[in-house]
Amino acid sequence: MKCTSCGRGVETEKYWVKFTCPDCGKVEIIRCEKCKNQSNQYTCKCGFTGP
Ligand SMILES: [Zn+2]
Ligand SMILES: [Zn+2]
Repeated sequence: MKCTSCGRGVETEKYWVKFTCPDCGKVEIIRCEKCKNQSNQYTCKCGFTGP
């Protein structure tokens, strides 16, 4: 599994989050701790961009 924002693998990370896209509700968004702290943007396959 990879962070949706930066593409880094999260398996080895202690803290990361996984949630479904709030727009389409189908695609899983994965964010590593770094991207969550920095509020990096992510882009879903459906085109939705979120903080
Ligand atoms: Zn990341
Ligand atoms: Zn989506």
